[in-house]
Amino acid sequence: MQQQTYDVIIVGAGPAGSSAATILGKAGKRVLLIDKGKFPREKTCGDGLTYKCVPLLEKLGLALDFREQAFFYSKGYGITFSDGTQITVRRPMAEQEAVVYMMPRFDFDNLLLQGARQYESVTVLEEAMVTNVIQEGERSIGVQVHTANAGTQIFSAPLIIDASGVGSKIAVQMGFAKTDLKNYALTIRGYFDEIENLSDVVEFIFDRSILPGYFWIFPIGAHSANVGCGTFQHLIVEKEINLRHLLEAFVQNHPAGEKLKSARLRGSLKGGKIPLGLDFASRVRDGLLFCGDAGGFTDPITAEGISFAIESGILAAETALAALTADNFAAKFLQQYDGQWQARFGERFSKAGFIQETVGKQNLQDYFYNAVAHHPAFEAAMQNQGSQYEWMFKLKALVKAL
Ligand SMILES: Cc1cc2nc3c(=O)[nH]c(=O)nc-3n(C[C@H](O)[C@H](O)[C@H](O)COP(=O)(O)OP(=O)(O)OC[C@H]3O[C@@H](n4cnc5c(N)ncnc54)[C@H](O)[C@@H]3O)c2cc1C
Repeated sequence: MQQQTYDVIIVGAGPAGSSAATILGKAGKRVLLIDKGKFPREKTCGDGLTYKCVPLLEKLGLALDFREQAFFYSKGYGITFSDGTQITVRRPMAEQEAVVYMMPRFDFDNLLLQGARQYESVTVLEEAMVTNVIQEGERSIGVQVHTANAGTQIFSAPLIIDASGVGSKIAVQMGFAKTDLKNYALTIRGYFDEIENLSDVVEFIFDRSILPGYFWIFPIGAHSANVGCGTFQHLIVEKEINLRHLLEAFVQNHPAGEKLKSARLRGSLKGGKIPLGLDFASRVRDGLLFCGDAGGFTDPITAEGISFAIESGILAAETALAALTADNFAAKFLQQYDGQWQARFGERFSKAGFIQETVGKQNLQDYFYNAVAHHPAFEAAMQNQGSQYEWMFKLKALVKAL
């Protein structure tokens, strides 16, 4: 069996993996970036990239290309609450700025991968399935890969970065994956064309049929949108929710979906899973780091995952660089990565945990969303970049008192 050695092996070339590979490639490290797909490839997603992605893309040297290639710039949000109240908040911002940029993952993930490919020391292996992490005692030292052409191969490296997404087999192998359905959301989305009266902002619709989840209509052009919905997996099972039927009913019957009634669905609806069970446990093992969805890094309220995937990929790569310099790949050394992601995401995630718990309580849902809709702090806070959560925190005391 053939065996090759690298400085770092990265499993998965989504936003987390490609970002990590770019940072390591820039530093001249020999990286093997492996993906089971052939790029450009589709990834089921809402395709919404928040403003938080831009400084991260600047760090990767891709912000300019991104701004040029983004399909749609949303300069605000439209929100429909469960009592039917609708608000639209638009922010004054420069032409090249947006709160949410829209770019189909088919193009966005390819842009990120091209960013990594530009470094000679980065080898990209596509259509290659990582089937196993190879361990020496507790320490990960390589991966077993299967490809149609070469069969089974072994690649070794002192450090593996798992960026293989929500269904990570490595996370399962390491006993790291969560099994409680409460820790995941299930979602479905489709592309709709020929939409009349599409809003100029991304829309979120909090309807009783899906709370504490939501429907979304994210424009990707003047007459096209990514439309979808999702909620917690345990509720889908308990309430026997059929997401496909729910989305179809939304399009046919909901006032906010009215504009989609005569639109044309391009291709078919596709489903996906999102990790929402945030905890502060370590994301490292000996010789192994988890980032992106494989590490469970998504916003527990909004389910935004792309910016967290890019940022955790960058942080994982920075820890990998430190480990290579120190020639130390023990979990104890790699734990600096835990300190870094906790410092960056911790406050937001722990506060969001409270909201997640609150909106999960059925009897509080309507009250919560409607109280939010009519609270003056909400609209005021929505006007400020980066403060979408502030209104939630202001309502914390109110909700706690119930
Ligand atoms: C329907 C839906 C809508 C969403 N909408 C949004 C949104 O609008 N905005 C947002 O910010 N987030 C959204 N998310 C979340 C977002 O998609 C994820 O958080 C993000 O893709 C995580 O990036 P990642 O790089 O960690 O993983 P991924 O993007 O999942 O990439 C993982 C890669 O690993 C590869 N891989 C997996 N297993 C193996 C293996 N064994 N061997 C080799 N390769 C492997 C896969 O082919 C894939 O390319 C949505 C998710 C869903 C399901």
